[in-house]
Amino acid sequence: MSRPFNFSAGPAVLPEEVLERAAADMLDWHGSGMSVMEMSHRGKEFVSIYEAAEADVRELLAVPEGFKILFMQGGGIAENAIVPLNLSRGERADFVVTGVWSERPQKEARKYCDVNVAASNADTGHTTLPDAGSWKLSPNARYVHVCSNETVHGIEMHELPDLKALGCDAPLVADISSHMLSRPVDWSRVGLAFGGAQKNVGPAGVTLVFVRQDLLGHAMAHCPSAFDYKIVADNQSMYNTPPTYGIYIAGLTFQWLKAQGGVAAIEQRNIAKAKMLYDFIDSSDFYVNRVATNCRSRMNIPFFLADESRNDAFLAQAKARGLLQLKGYKTLGGMRASLYNAMPLAGVEALVSHMREFEKEHA
Ligand SMILES: *Cc1c(COP(=O)(O)O)cnc(C)c1O
Repeated sequence: MSRPFNFSAGPAVLPEEVLERAAADMLDWHGSGMSVMEMSHRGKEFVSIYEAAEADVRELLAVPEGFKILFMQGGGIAENAIVPLNLSRGERADFVVTGVWSERPQKEARKYCDVNVAASNADTGHTTLPDAGSWKLSPNARYVHVCSNETVHGIEMHELPDLKALGCDAPLVADISSHMLSRPVDWSRVGLAFGGAQKNVGPAGVTLVFVRQDLLGHAMAHCPSAFDYKIVADNQSMYNTPPTYGIYIAGLTFQWLKAQGGVAAIEQRNIAKAKMLYDFIDSSDFYVNRVATNCRSRMNIPFFLADESRNDAFLAQAKARGLLQLKGYKTLGGMRASLYNAMPLAGVEALVSHMREFEKEHA
């Protein structure tokens, strides 16, 4: 039985092999007599699942020893508060606004610290990436926040900014929710990176945080203990009960990714998939993507029909052809195709062929 292709931005497609493995393990994980959901998080079975997941993601992303990897809860939106609670010391933080997912954190952080918007692409309707050289960084910022892949607007930083080269010593904080594990990370440029699992890693409910150790231990006095990175790190993410089942599924995805050849191999496939869709959109007058070519996301590709009155027909026919969840973000409208790691090239081929057919019928 072949399943439809699922283009959701999140919660999103998972590798079929991962879902099959989870189904096979459901009632009895490895002869333990228990589902993973029924295990104590401190028992040897779950601890082995946790340790393998952590080691595998560390290996996949080549995370240096100087970074802690935390499995938290609350998603990207909670991190927008947890980061200033831990890093700002109630002082100043800089934000680069490039779309919905960097606009929200600068607003949230105002509850906890002094906020400077160092750059914004709002004047272009969030279709460009302000050149790092033009960012108005504060001399005393405790951190600089970016969203390196804007899930809604489809903008990706193909390279993380080198703050040191800009004369800035503050750590870079990157929200990598929607492109985590789609490409390698240059950790020399990062102080902290976080991402919700439900885009490219596993089910909703797990947040991965990669944090340089010198940034631990500076939480504000009123920071909840369960959100204090140092407390979470000192307790191997088990200060409170971690999202055990989500960590298990994330672990299966990490194993799947290793079997695919790792992050460098999947990056090449992601480049090829995105190119196929952008090339088709750019070759047609019927569809348009408005993002500047130097910052188009490989993961989330918004596009619009030139005649928006055909949107419903486009989506209905897509669904009939086994192409699911292509509707664009609520405030942006149009369409969005998310091409995460688990989306095979065949899915992109099927989408392009639907778009071509639909154009032929309606142009
Ligand atoms: C989805 C998303 C979020 C929000 O995640 P929640 O799990 O809903 O908190 C934050 N940032 C980015 C980049 C996202 O794609």
